[in-house]
Amino acid sequence: MNPDLKISSGPIFCHQCGTLMINTGDDVLVCSACNAEKNAVEYDDIIIVTKSNPKSFPSKLRLRRSKIQQLDRYKEESARIKEKCPKCGNDEMSYHTMQLRSADEGQTVFYHCPNCGYKFSINS
Ligand SMILES: [Zn+2]
Ligand SMILES: [Zn+2]
Repeated sequence: MNPDLKISSGPIFCHQCGTLMINTGDDVLVCSACNAEKNAVEYDDIIIVTKSNPKSFPSKLRLRRSKIQQLDRYKEESARIKEKCPKCGNDEMSYHTMQLRSADEGQTVFYHCPNCGYKFSINS
């Protein structure tokens, strides 16, 4: 049997950190996160276990977790500023900046009213 076919029949996870390992094609698996290496032949038994229990495959969970982390990062970049909301008069706006074009053209500041949800942006 072709060993490459056996390896691709199921996902293999790093013994150190649990990240999906990548088959380099030389019967060697490399972890994309911590670079741990494993000889693919050692995993013959584990591949069978993984196939018989597909629900243990955690990729969906991991995907969802990384989305939440992105939202957290967005929150951290937003800050409050003493700026009157043109719509409801609330005296504090949250804002964040974004570089939209080349560096010498400045950046865009996005304001967002935490009180009424009004949004506007200013090019600086
Ligand atoms: Zn690893
Ligand atoms: Zn407002």
